[in-house]
Parts: sequence; C-alpha cells; structure tokens
Amino acid sequence: MFAHTEPEQLLWHDIYDLAPLPRFAFPNLLLLGDAAHATTPNMGQGACQAVEDAVVFADELQKDYDFNAAAQRFERRRLSRTHWIARQSRFLGSVAQSTHPLFIPLRNFALRHLPKAVNEWQLEKVYAVDF
Ligand SMILES: Cc1cc2nc3c(=O)[nH]c(=O)nc-3n(C[C@H](O)[C@H](O)[C@H](O)COP(=O)(O)OP(=O)(O)OC[C@H]3O[C@@H](n4cnc5c(N)ncnc54)[C@H](O)[C@@H]3O)c2cc1C
Repeated sequence: MFAHTEPEQLLWHDIYDLAPLPRFAFPNLLLLGDAAHATTPNMGQGACQAVEDAVVFADELQKDYDFNAAAQRFERRRLSRTHWIARQSRFLGSVAQSTHPLFIPLRNFALRHLPKAVNEWQLEKVYAVDF
C-alpha cells in the first residue's frame, strides 16, 4: 500500500490540544467544547466532552436563566473533569507514541501486564459523569 502511494497523496494532520485553561466563563461569554478544552484524540473524548458541556449548561440554564450565573456554575462543574481528560489524554499519547528505543520494550511489557483493575478504574472515571 505504501509503495503505491505517492507523497502528494498522503495527508498530514498535526494534532493540537489546549493547555488547561483556568476559566471557561467570562462576562457574557462562555467557552464550550474544543474552544474550552480541545484534547488529543487518545481517549476519544473530545466530542464526548463537548456533548457533556451542552447537557450541563442546559441543566444550569434550566435552574436559573441568568446567563452569567449559569456560566459560573457550569465552569465550577466542568473545569476539573475536562482538565483531567485533557491531561490524561496527552499523557497516554506521549506513552503510546514514544519512539525512544529503550522505552518501547518497557512500555509494551507494562501494557501487556497492566492489571485489569487499572484499566477499569480509568474507564469508570471517564464514564462517571456528573449530570
Ligand atoms: C481525526 C479526529 C478524530 C476524532 N475522534 C473523536 C472520537 O473518537 N471521539 C470524540 O469524542 N471526539 C473525537 N474527536 C474530537 C471531536 O471532533 C471534537 O472534540 C469536537 O468536534 C468538538 O466539537 P466542538 O463543537 O467544540 O467544535 P467543532 O466541531 O470544531 O465545531 C466548531 C464549529 O464552529 C465553526 N466556526 C469556527 N469559527 C467560526 C466563526 N467565526 N463563525 C461561525 N462558525 C465558526 C466551525 O466551522 C465548526 O463547524 C476527533 C477529532 C479529530 C480531528
């Protein structure tokens, strides 16, 4: 496949994420989704977090239709979870994509023998949504 692919047919898309922002809510402005917490794709959570944002913000607006107050409450509910996802995703990417010759066999060994409980703990944290 590679031998029959011309260089100009290859697509190259760099991956960017956003260093965790200290705030999402500003006067009359609220950052949601990737604008607030763009994350690397290693956990497949970018769009999931955008959807969670929408649900949480709708919930806050239902409690009280004051935009700025709802945005502040949204920020309190969403900062730490989205920061954790972005940091965890970046970390997993750096481990998975490392090309260091000494690290690769260590990583492959560790991943093969990682206790199931560690994986389950992480998944539980991803799925434990505060709605
Ligand atoms: C290759 C790839 C794979 C991915 N895989 C997954 C996955 O498996 N699971 C997952 O959960 N997430 C995944 N994501 C991440 C996901 O696509 C994003 O996190 C998600 O789309 C963010 O949604 P958003 O609405 O915040 O931003 P966007 O989807 O970027 O939407 C922003 C919209 O605003 C528009 N816009 C920009 N500027 C203006 C302007 N000035 N005026 C009007 N409109 C404007 C844009 O055109 C765009 O339509 C992946 C992303 C990529 C690139």
